[in-house]
Amino acid sequence: MKKRMIILGSTGSIGKSTIEVADGLRDEWEVVGLAAGSSAVDLAAQADKLRPGFLAIADEGAATELERALNYAPTVFSGEDALVALVNAADCECVVSAVVGTGGLKATLRAVELGRRVALANKEALVIAGSLVMPLAARTGATVIPVDSEHSAVFQALQAGRTEDVRRIHLTASGGPFRTWSFDAMESATVEDALRHPTWNMGPKITIDSATMMNKALEIVEAKWLFGLGADQIDVVIHPESIVHSVVEFRDGSMIAQMGTPDMRTPIQYALTYPARRTCPVSRLDLPSLGQLNFEPPDPERFPAIELGHAVARRGGTAGAVLNAANETAVELFRAAAIGFLDIARHVERALDEHDFVAAPGLSDLLEADRWARGEVARCTAC
Ligand code: MG
Repeated sequence: MKKRMIILGSTGSIGKSTIEVADGLRDEWEVVGLAAGSSAVDLAAQADKLRPGFLAIADEGAATELERALNYAPTVFSGEDALVALVNAADCECVVSAVVGTGGLKATLRAVELGRRVALANKEALVIAGSLVMPLAARTGATVIPVDSEHSAVFQALQAGRTEDVRRIHLTASGGPFRTWSFDAMESATVEDALRHPTWNMGPKITIDSATMMNKALEIVEAKWLFGLGADQIDVVIHPESIVHSVVEFRDGSMIAQMGTPDMRTPIQYALTYPARRTCPVSRLDLPSLGQLNFEPPDPERFPAIELGHAVARRGGTAGAVLNAANETAVELFRAAAIGFLDIARHVERALDEHDFVAAPGLSDLLEADRWARGEVARCTAC
């Protein structure tokens, strides 16, 4: 019998890559559920091809459009709790959580509660609620396998040793489009400039997060929860070629790196096939033609997000929820040309400074911190 997967966020960048991976693994895996936010036509096209029994669309208004566009009659959930309903209804061996932003949190928590393997691309689930997700996974036996390329690299490198023997990890960052820009030039950078990522082809939100390096801040917090590390054990290094996806440094000085072409199909497939590996149609690295690989420290003045990430990882509690939500809102404001590029980190820092910190939050505290941070950043556009 084939193993069954559901894909939350199937019409996004990671979701589409997951469908390609699933196609390559079709002798072993079948897709039994797909979920999207509002892209009804794209979702219908995917569903008509894969014929899963269950679909979910978060946007209530898009549900009619979805059902009209379908050429078969699956069970369709819609509205705010549609993704959770899908996770409840579709029995499966793996939930691929690839929703962008806060929208995937409840469904991811539910998948963990059900003890599923969770292939986690939705880093926000851990940034906001790592303090709930990881203890819950320990209780239910759910396996959380990172799809984020850096964390997949760490997860793979950790197969070479014991977690208690890790000295620290080195998360690599491409440096984004502004790696060599001056502070003054970054101050007046446009949305177009920020969307020009040198190595990875990703959705717009994460591409801007790469430009500010807020993506790395989120990844520091994500790594803390995934691997149970202290903030001071998580280092960030700029590596413009995006070939080394991250490095684990063990106590004996050995550093184990995972390398490959920058292609999300590799970490997605590994999350599905772990601990086995299968052939994957990604282009291969040719070491002699690479010539050299470069590493440099991030500049804290131009990329203050890194320090924010470390501070949030040290602090825990509701800080991750505020970091994520303040950043999402600030990125929206930047995309609407309402604030400047370097204002994104300023808004996030201010929200972190001013929020009512809760040290041991429940889900409602985390959602409240999220809601507050969004309102605070929106209110203070001209602060
Ligand atoms: Mg990443």
